[in-house]
Amino acid sequence: MSSSDTDQPVLIAGAGPTGMTAALALNARGVPATILEADPADRDRAGSRAIYVHGSTLRTLERVHPGLGKKQVEAGLVWPTRRTMWRGKDVFKRTYDNPGGDGEFPHFTSLPQVKTEQFMHEALEEAGIDIHWEAGVESVESTPDGVHVETTDGQEWDAPYLIGADGGGSQVRKEIGAEFHGDESENSFIIVDVETLDGNTIEEDPLPFERLFHYDAPAADGRNVMLVPFTGGWRLDVQCLGDDDPEEVAGEEKMREIVADVMGEEYTDNIKWTSTYKFLQVISDKFVDEHRRVLLAGEAAHLLAPFGARGMNSCVADADEAASAITVALQAQTRGVHDHEIDRYASRRKQAAEYNIDAAGQALEYLEDRDPVTVLRKEVAASLADHFEVAGEYLDDAPYGPHDAPPTSAGGNY
Ligand SMILES: Cc1cc2nc3c(=O)[nH]c(=O)nc-3n(C[C@H](O)[C@H](O)[C@H](O)COP(=O)(O)OP(=O)(O)OC[C@H]3O[C@@H](n4cnc5c(N)ncnc54)[C@H](O)[C@@H]3O)c2cc1C
Repeated sequence: MSSSDTDQPVLIAGAGPTGMTAALALNARGVPATILEADPADRDRAGSRAIYVHGSTLRTLERVHPGLGKKQVEAGLVWPTRRTMWRGKDVFKRTYDNPGGDGEFPHFTSLPQVKTEQFMHEALEEAGIDIHWEAGVESVESTPDGVHVETTDGQEWDAPYLIGADGGGSQVRKEIGAEFHGDESENSFIIVDVETLDGNTIEEDPLPFERLFHYDAPAADGRNVMLVPFTGGWRLDVQCLGDDDPEEVAGEEKMREIVADVMGEEYTDNIKWTSTYKFLQVISDKFVDEHRRVLLAGEAAHLLAPFGARGMNSCVADADEAASAITVALQAQTRGVHDHEIDRYASRRKQAAEYNIDAAGQALEYLEDRDPVTVLRKEVAASLADHFEVAGEYLDDAPYGPHDAPPTSAGGNY
């Protein structure tokens, strides 16, 4: 083990939420870090994407950069009401007096990912951590003593470790010979961001301040729709039917019609972003390279459907644990201890990813009506919801899958 290891910054590929959290988490542990990012500094990161930030993620962000979790809370919102409808009729509605709970951080906050990333950029600046823009990682060579990286701007870098946080198409994953394995959703899903009216806050908008799931919504020609408030707007998720042409449903004309019918005519000019997805449920076959010098984290290591909001939340947990493993490994006096720390990262986060993929997969199976017993259960629950609240609550809860965090994670982290 080389004592000069600690002098060179750890390299991080990617300035998404995973890479930025990893850099902050290393810095908080006294380890210098540098980010290599493929995009230019003035890039546009469109779409609300990860709006639901779990309390455990807020606590992690606050721990690695004091003030960061609190900024998210101040900028985000906590909706007070959960509501579910079935074919035009209410089957469940519950409003909480204190929806965020009594802890220092609320159970969750809802804000667009672009805001989360803005706060992370500010934190990096405060911490004096550099991002090298337009420096995409092209090649990675690892040895027992470190990594050698070449970037698209022609630069070469040597470092004790590289964290591959370069997203779903990760070049780092390819460079270490790792591969994704898994499935894809059957249905397509359309995600639409709709701004509040006239610059209103959510509370001022005419729509009720609630999270709504509507099964077979007549206003969306029998498709499932979900409407979720976040700071500045509404997220409308539309689940395509089996025989839909997703591009046609997501087209401007059809989407204006759906937004008008679900939200109101006055919202049609406020559609800001529309995107069509088939969700991948995939995991990398390895999370670290053979020399334990390259660690994959976030979407470079796993992709999952967004139900239950385990995506970005699990990316933040990966990043924090990768930083922790590297910090300990840097101090290791024997190869055995070094390798053990990095392997432990790989095994813990692989188990967490498998758990999260399974949980998101249960939600996906439920929503796609893959099991006739589940279809029957939904019908029965809808018919009983007027008489038994528990039946309505089942319908309200099930689209998000199980709530539990992976058993390997401390503090409810995903
Ligand atoms: C429609 C949608 C809705 C979502 N909803 C939720 C939600 O409600 N809750 C939730 O928790 N999550 C959600 N997610 C998931 C969330 O957006 C992702 O999990 C998160 O962005 C992943 O972060 P990341 O940093 O791992 O990857 P990314 O955000 O993809 O960042 C990767 C970074 O690496 C850079 N890069 C790429 N290649 C290279 C290279 N070769 N070298 C250097 N840099 C490179 C990219 O430019 C990018 O900046 C959603 C995602 C989508 C698409």
